[in-house]
Amino acid sequence: MLSRDVVIVGSGPAGTATALNLLKADPALAGDILLLDKAVHPREKICAGGLIPHTLDCLNELDIPLAVPHVRVDRAFVRVPPGREVSCEDGGMCSIVRRDAFDFSLVQAARARGAEIREGEKVLELIREPAGIRVVTDKETYQTRVVVGADGSGSRVRRQLIGEDPSPVGKAIMCDVPVAETCWDGFLTQRYDFNFTPVTQGLKGYLWAFPCLINEVPHVNIGIYSLGDTHLSNTDLQCFLINELISLKSPVPSPKFRAFPIYSYVPGRSLAALHIVLSCRLCEPGNLIFPSTLRPSVVHGWARNSPGSI
Ligand SMILES: Cc1cc2nc3c(=O)[nH]c(=O)nc-3n(C[C@H](O)[C@H](O)[C@H](O)COP(=O)(O)OP(=O)(O)OC[C@H]3O[C@@H](n4cnc5c(N)ncnc54)[C@H](O)[C@@H]3O)c2cc1C
Repeated sequence: MLSRDVVIVGSGPAGTATALNLLKADPALAGDILLLDKAVHPREKICAGGLIPHTLDCLNELDIPLAVPHVRVDRAFVRVPPGREVSCEDGGMCSIVRRDAFDFSLVQAARARGAEIREGEKVLELIREPAGIRVVTDKETYQTRVVVGADGSGSRVRRQLIGEDPSPVGKAIMCDVPVAETCWDGFLTQRYDFNFTPVTQGLKGYLWAFPCLINEVPHVNIGIYSLGDTHLSNTDLQCFLINELISLKSPVPSPKFRAFPIYSYVPGRSLAALHIVLSCRLCEPGNLIFPSTLRPSVVHGWARNSPGSI
């Protein structure tokens, strides 16, 4: 059995930000922090990839410049019923990344600063012991003083060590379309769009269109977000999405739709227990536009996981 001071389950932004913040606070922890991930980076992640300014500020605090391809957004266009349109402009509203490249860059930074990262290794079981936690993976067993649960929305760490399996608050469906196949001018004008007009048809959410670069080719990431407590089915949501694609003159059959449940902060839920800290988007409330963002993952990696707090 191997022994490490800190074992972080998950090497998405929450896991790597936790490692980077711990190493910044105490460089002597290098070699004692282990991140485990069942995936191998760069891995696909269903996400629109919008980094809001505070997320970027947190990365700056860690001396991590945004070095991966991204599109800067300086304008927003919002449609609300009945047929009203609102535009606003503000330098650096958002930077849109692709999560495979962004997450991989954080993994490389954490590794370069002394974190050990084992990829393709799935955590199967976590067992409480008097002095800490035993972490069993499909390859190895580890003994640790502290486990950080940064294993995303369906967190095994939360389920096994803290209990309370939160149910999703909503869902999102998205696809990517080359800008050249549409009439959308948001990429050229560095703009992102939000469309709330389907609320009149029962949608509790909105459609979005974000500019992004996939293999250096301008794309529009189009998606729909819906709260869970609605009578609308996945097929209904896809119909809204298809109508949005048609309005952009996009070829409808080609894009691949990808759906994902959305989890969010629920007041009163436990975020820590003896020897365990959660680092994820469940740690703080979202807002209407971004009900669930990367921000809490990076922030809580930043704020909660100083050596003093564990
Ligand atoms: C459609 C959609 C659009 C979104 N758009 C945005 C957006 O524009 N901006 C924004 O800020 N946020 C957005 N989000 C939210 C954002 O994707 C999440 O907040 C973010 O991914 C959370 O990061 P994380 O590090 O907590 O988890 P993750 O990125 O999910 O990382 C968890 C890691 O844990 C690993 N793991 C899981 N289980 C195990 C296990 N048993 N053993 C080992 N490893 C394990 C996984 O492989 C994964 O690498 C969006 C979400 C969706 C669904």
